[in-house]
Order: sequence, then structure tokens, then C-alpha cells
Amino acid sequence: MPEIETANKPGIPLENLPVSVLKGVGERLAATLEKLGLKTLQDLLFHLPIRYLDRTRVTPLAQLQLNTSVMIQGRILRVQVVFGRKRSMVVQLEDDTGAVCLRFYHFSGYQKDKFQEGALVRCYGEPRLGISGMEFYHPEYDFIDERQPEPVEETLTPIYGLTEGVSQQRMRAIVEQAVGMIHKYPPDEFLPAEINREFQCESLSEALVYMHQPPCNAPVASLMEGLHPSQQRLAFEELLAHFLARRKLRELVAGEQAPVLRIDPALRETFLAQLPFSLTGAQQRVSVDIEQDLCSGQPMLRMVQGDVGSGKTLVAALAALGGACSGCQVAVVAPTEILAEQHFHNFSGWMQKLGFEVVWLVGKLSAAKRREALVRIASGDAQIVVGTHALFQDDVIFHRLGLAVIDEQHRFGVHQRLSLRQKSREGEMPHQLVMTATPIPRTLAMTAYAELDYSIIDELPPGRLPVNTVLVSQSRRDQVIERIRLACAEGRQAYWVCTLVEDSESLAAANAEETATLLRESLPDIAIGLIHGRLKSSEKEAVMAAFKQAELQLLVATTVIEVGVDVPNASLMIIENPERLGLAQLHQLRGRVGRGEVASHCVLLYGAKLSEQARSRLQVLRETNDGFVVAERDLQLRGPGELLGTRQTGDAQYRVADMLRDEHLLESVNRLGEQLLEHQPGIADKLIQRWIGDRQIYAQV
Ligand code: ADP
Ligand code: MG
Repeated sequence: MPEIETANKPGIPLENLPVSVLKGVGERLAATLEKLGLKTLQDLLFHLPIRYLDRTRVTPLAQLQLNTSVMIQGRILRVQVVFGRKRSMVVQLEDDTGAVCLRFYHFSGYQKDKFQEGALVRCYGEPRLGISGMEFYHPEYDFIDERQPEPVEETLTPIYGLTEGVSQQRMRAIVEQAVGMIHKYPPDEFLPAEINREFQCESLSEALVYMHQPPCNAPVASLMEGLHPSQQRLAFEELLAHFLARRKLRELVAGEQAPVLRIDPALRETFLAQLPFSLTGAQQRVSVDIEQDLCSGQPMLRMVQGDVGSGKTLVAALAALGGACSGCQVAVVAPTEILAEQHFHNFSGWMQKLGFEVVWLVGKLSAAKRREALVRIASGDAQIVVGTHALFQDDVIFHRLGLAVIDEQHRFGVHQRLSLRQKSREGEMPHQLVMTATPIPRTLAMTAYAELDYSIIDELPPGRLPVNTVLVSQSRRDQVIERIRLACAEGRQAYWVCTLVEDSESLAAANAEETATLLRESLPDIAIGLIHGRLKSSEKEAVMAAFKQAELQLLVATTVIEVGVDVPNASLMIIENPERLGLAQLHQLRGRVGRGEVASHCVLLYGAKLSEQARSRLQVLRETNDGFVVAERDLQLRGPGELLGTRQTGDAQYRVADMLRDEHLLESVNRLGEQLLEHQPGIADKLIQRWIGDRQIYAQV
């Protein structure tokens, strides 16, 4: 590969200019900025807007389009509190061209009083199809003083990530100064010149300026969606930096020592003999991969991907057996207490018969119980330790940690995983096994998890019946409720999952509570439980235990039950407003049923007006039960801008890049990454420094 020529003349490198060279940035502000990792001018230039607001023009109400973000302005015609299925405050606005409603399901008396008839309101948001036609749900708004109306903005307004002690305006002003100095101190070009050409950018500087200060005529839609060539140029470089960081991590790990773990053949026999079934071919194959890693003397870093219900827990248990047989301890980490408890239960059942001790550690343990667990962990009496992220805490000291199993790893950050490293013996690193049900296409996996080896459980246990999925409109809610009654009458159990537009656990909890109340009225003879993130852990635990023991027949839940929960007798799941979730998440949820011998059903109970596009998206779930197919179709169908959320791809730490949106870049990112590592490792280091710096995501292993 030809040497990369850096286009810059020698000068002061940007990464050496501290933020304090800027006007108005004193010690105090510098310290605040440092909390965001912003120490140098380079850091500021690469502190890219997390999004933009289009406040360049007021859209007349007659021109509103569904699901398109706009700024509107109108006079309040009427304010009403209406009592429908849910109480809401409706504010009717009108301008010279038409009228529209703002709807608030959650509002204070104070808020209501502020909305006076005749007042002028400016409001930002996306209209959705609602009860009265197009409506804005919980929009952002300002009251406008008619004597001094606020002018509209001239360019798209960048929104930056902040921390306490620095306001949006302040941040904008600081970044603006840094951008003003870019011509004097242009950032180094680390990529081959053809990359700029490919993205129609003069230079890296030009791309950065464009992002911070999009010109008046900038194509709003493509910028909002992150598809503008300048954004894509930067996304490319960012993805590359992450790829490189992960590969470096992998090299570092490969140079470490790990304990040699071997499964005792007799104990393996005993372990397998107690199972009511035999391992699937895929489980066996993946276990062989793992066992080879465990006895190599080098730390394993392996990801096991397997669709929901493919039996990942057992594969983990076999690996854990290897640790326990070899005089080492094993940590099993789950993202929720519900799941940790389930694992504790399973592992205890399997391991105690073999003479190994299992303890558990979660946030809610009493001080005495916790102390007892800590002692058993530190002494090495407990071979297997199951828990939540409570296990990462500093006072959890292992006698000799040999293996860490991380279940549903997309719920954890890389740094959390790595913090277990500190818990091992001097000069030794524990093996790591991470498990995920999120099916990700191969190129994506190679970038997103470039530090990991990869095994797939591509087979479900025999006899599983596919979950029969149907789409039903809210107008047929009564029939759905009747279906629950029938299922329960046959001794089956059911889930009712509530979703919410906003990502707020407290709103979701309120919604689930309301739903549970309504269902209790409709189904007086059915034992109904309720579970959501706002409950105390002891309450959650009691509800889950009751559901497992079939004391509860119907469980109303938020998406907290999404991961891992295993109650084979549950054969019916209702998901309310499924259009609000990504397909992959729906697939995860649906995976809670179809675990037993009887045919299971999943009812997607969609809202009153479902768009054609949303419908065809949901159809995918009707057509297939294969998580890989669901993921692929999700990628194809997902129109730009309709983000699935970063949970899909692991860690939410990108500035401009979006792994799914930018999937088309990955192949050449990976290729260039390999070349750089081989021929220009110095550039690789600088790219990592620029984009990731001291952030702890890929901290020293
Ligand atoms: P996941 O991969 O979603 O974590 P689990 O490990 O929870 O799946 O397993 C799902 C269910 O399948 C459990 O009830 C488990 O006992 C059962 N199971 C696992 N392996 C097999 C197998 N080889 N044959 C039959 N059932 C199995
Ligand atoms: Mg699982």
C-alpha cells in the first residue's frame, strides 16, 4: 500500500493545543470540558453535533406531513383535558392556514395553566397520526412574546453532548471558536487521499466545518439522517478508529497468560447425564471451540451468538465446569436481576450435584448476605459466582478468577467486561465468554466485535414449534383478551407486553400499571401479575417467582422481560403497539414463548392506524422465526432515519457513525484497517487517539 501523504504542512499539531487557548475558557471551564474528554482543540473539533434541529423556518399547519420533524407556530384556540382510554391534555393550535392538536398524556397543573387561550406557541416535533388527525405528542415548545418574536435560525442548529456546568449555547460558542481556527491549524489527514474524493470532500477540515456549521442551503434531510457525504467521510474514519482499537485490544490480550482449564471427563459425564435431553449438534460444536480456547494458555475472547432459545446457558455451564474442575472460579454476569436469579437457580441445580458451590451477588442482597457471599468468593469456597453488574464492584475480590461469562452482552459496555480483568491474579487474565442472541450480519460483527472470536449456535433444540405470529388491530382487543382467557383455562400462561413511544421507564411503568388494571377488570378470574423496572427488586423477584410457579397466569410487563426469561409453560404473548419497537427487539420478546412442547402464539396488537410501511415491517415476524432473517430484513427495510437504536450493535459510543446505517462502509473500513495495522501502525495509533483517546471503552486490558 502506498504511504499516506499527510496533506498538512508541519505546524503545531492540534492535539497539542489545549482548550484553554480559546477566549473565555478558564481553568474551571477547562476542567468541566475535560469531563467530556475535551482537552485539546482537536477534541473540540471532533466533538460533533449529536443531532440538528431545523429551526430555520416555520411550517404552515396546512403543510404538515406525518412523521416529519418541523417547527410550527400557532395561537392557542382551546385547551381541554379529555378522558379517553387515557387521560390527556389537548391543546388546539391554529395559524392562517389550518389547525393541529398537541397532546400531552403527562402534564402538570402548572403546565396546563400556562397554556392560555390566545397565547402564541412555537413548537418542535414530529406530527403523528392520532385521534383527531395529525397530532404532536409531547412536543418541545416555547411561548412567543408577540411584541418581540424570536427570529428563526438561519442554519440548522447543532446540538452537542453536554455535561453539568456547560450549557448548549456555551458549548456552541466554544466549538465555534475552535472551528474558526481550523484553517490555521488543520487536523492531519490520516486517510489515503482517495477516501476524501470518494466522499466528495476537499479535505477533512471541510467535512468538519460542514458538520459544525452546515450552510444555509444544506440538504436538511440528508444531514438529519446522517447521510451527508461529510458525515459519511467522518463516520468512515470513526468506524476505522474503533476497528483499530478493538484489534489492538485483541493483540494485547493474545500476549497475556491465562489459566489452563480442562473439564474432567467423569464430571462431564455426570453433568450431561443429569440433563433431560442431549446437546444439539450446534451446542456440541460451539463447546468444542470453547474448550480448545480454555486449555490454550492464552485468554479466550469469544462471542457465542445463538438465537433466542438455542440453549446458550448450557454451553456456558459446560465452560464453567471447565473452570471449576481446574481449581479456578467462574463469574457469570447477567444484565438484570431477574435473569441473574434464573441463572443462579439453573447453575445451582447442575453444579451442586457435582460438588461445586454456587453463590450469587446482586444489588438487592442484604448487607449480611452480601458480606457472606463476598467472603465465600474471596476464600475460593464458591467456585461459581452468578450476579449482575454488582460483580464488577471493587470490593468483590476473587480467590482465583479463571473465566468470566457475560450473558446478553449487548447490555454491557466493553469497559465493564474488561473491569473483571482487575479481579484476576497478578500476571494472569481470565478467559471471557460473551453470549448474545442479537444476530448480526458477518461484516458488521467483524467491525463491531473485531476483538472477539465468533461461534454460532445455528440450531434450535429438537421439537420446538415455531411461534405462530399474527397481527391484530386494537379494535379487536376484546377478542385478544378472550384468547388469554382460553389459554389460561387450558393451564397455559401468557405475557402482555406494554411498549411506549418515549424511552422512559417511568412512563412505561405507569402505562403497564394502567393496562394491568384494565385487564383485571376484563379477566376477573385470572391471576394477573405486573412487572416493570420501577418495582423494588424484591417485588420483581416475587412476581417472577409466582409466574414461574404458575401462581400467576398472566404477566403484564414492560420490555424488562425482553432478555433471557425462561418460563416454558407460557405459550401466548401479546405485544401492544409493536410498531414502536425494532424487529430484532420484537423477536427477542417473542422468544419468551415457544419454549415448551405446545404451539405458541404471539399477537402483535397494533395501534389504530398502522402505516403500510410499518405493516410490512411487522409482516416479517409473521413470515419467519429465524433471528438472522429478521435482522437482515430489518436492515433492508429500515428506511434511513428510522433508527433502531445502538443496542443492536453493542456499544453506544459513536459520534457520527451508526453501525447499521453505515453498514455499506464496513467492508472497506475493515480492509483499510488491516492494511494500516500491517504497514502504518503509527497512523493507527493516531486515529485511535483522535477518536477514542482516553475514553475507557477499550482501556488497557
Ligand atoms: P437462550 O439461548 O435463549 O439463552 P436457554 O439457554 O434459556 O436459551 O434455553 C432455552 C430452553 O431450552 C431452556 O428451557 C433449556 O433447558 C432448553 N434446552 C437447552 N438445550 C437444549 C437441548 N439440547 N435440548 C432440549 N432443550 C434444551
Ligand atoms: Mg439466555
